[in-house]
Parts: sequence; structure tokens; C-alpha cells
Amino acid sequence: MFALVDNRLLRMTGHLLKEGYYDKAVLPVGATEYHGEHLPFGTDSLVSESLAEAVSQRVDGMLCLPTLPFGMSRHYSSFPIALTLSTGTLTSVLKEIMESLNQHGMKRLLIINGHDGNIPAIEAAAREYRTDHPEMKVAVLEAWWVTASELLPKGTFDAWEGLGHGGEGETSIMLRVAPQLVNMSRARGHIPNLPEHVQVKWLFKEIAPDGVTGDPTKATSEKGILMWQALVDELVDFVQKMDKSGWEIDLPK
Ligand SMILES: [Zn+2]
Repeated sequence: MFALVDNRLLRMTGHLLKEGYYDKAVLPVGATEYHGEHLPFGTDSLVSESLAEAVSQRVDGMLCLPTLPFGMSRHYSSFPIALTLSTGTLTSVLKEIMESLNQHGMKRLLIINGHDGNIPAIEAAAREYRTDHPEMKVAVLEAWWVTASELLPKGTFDAWEGLGHGGEGETSIMLRVAPQLVNMSRARGHIPNLPEHVQVKWLFKEIAPDGVTGDPTKATSEKGILMWQALVDELVDFVQKMDKSGWEIDLPK
């Protein structure tokens, strides 16, 4: 069922908030950083926002919070222009958003993250905040680019399992989310040869001469539609299950 009212907090009056019944919120967390010559700087914000809006329209009582457009992008900052917070600042921002919601009785939060550099801050904020405030329930879609590839049949992607910053998967989903902002004629990338089981902590310029990893030339809107839909369906199903259980952490079988 689709919500009849606009459930985005930035567009809502106090009256509409009071009239609606909102028992949970979704927070898209993005970034503003270079995504190659073919994708916009707001890619990570636009994708997480699009997923959050779609999910919150399909479940009951979910408020869509404003997208956080700044993330931790220091490792991407050799390419202009990255507007970056430190992990410490981002952790504080997220904890204070959780505290604000909790104060207003909104104790169920889904975070949809759009950017790899935000993962440590989201993890720290959720762990630390919940230790002191266990009544606040926090769920996170940490890396949609990995989840999408897990949800779709093997062989959906042509290169590097669709991964990469500005790569096949991200470019495809942008062709679903905001095709007018994608310039495929400028798409080019590089697939770095990275160790399989141990992470090397790269600076982005060390693995991406053009500021893009993966192969965006393999991106299509068909793949993007599949990714976007699989993620939205999975999140809707997740929220509905959580609602049924009262957001218990250990879901009944
Ligand atoms: Zn990105």
C-alpha cells in the first residue's frame, strides 16, 4: 500500500505529523564526493534517499528523515571535491540524531547508508548509543552495493560482481534513480587487484587513477531497476517483520 500523504519530514507541517501515526523513521546517510566524470557528486546521497523514500512509502508509520549529505570521505579527498566529516564527527552527529528521535518517543530507526566510509561511524554510533539507551532500536543497511549483489542471481553483473566506487552496480542503480544526471559517454574505471581475505587500507587514488573503481561501462538501467527493486522489496519485508515482532532483536522463526 502506498502512503497517501508525503511522509518526508522536511516537507511536513506539524499538523500533518500530529495527524499521522509514525512509530519509526528511516535515515538516509550519504556523502558528497567525486564519483568520476559520469556520476554526480551526490550519488551516495541520492541512492540512499531514493531507497528510503520508496521503503517508507510502502510500510505503515515510517517517517522519512532528511538525508545526511556529508559522510566520511577523507580517503576519497584526493579527487575534488569531497566535503568530508571525520569519523568522530559523523559518529557524534548520528548519536545526536538518535538522541533527538528518542526524546520524541521515536524509538525505531532504520539507517540506509550510501557510502563505504560511513560504515565505522554508523557502527560506533549505534553500538554506543544502544548500550546506554537499549530502548532505542537501530537497524542498518550498511552496504547496499554488497546486499544488491547478494540478492540478485549470480551472473547479473559482468565485472567485479558489480562492485566499485562509480562502478557497474552504482552506475546501474543511478540509471534507475536519476538517469538524467548520468553521463555514460564519460564512463571509465579501473578494477584494482586487491587481496581476497585481508583488507589493505587504501587511499582511493592508489587504486583508482581516474577516481572510479569497477567497470561503469557495463552499467545498464535494466540492472539498476533489478538492484533497486530487490533492495526496496527486501527492506519492506524486513520492516514488516520487525513491526510484527515489536522490533525484538531476536526475530521469531
Ligand atoms: Zn558512491
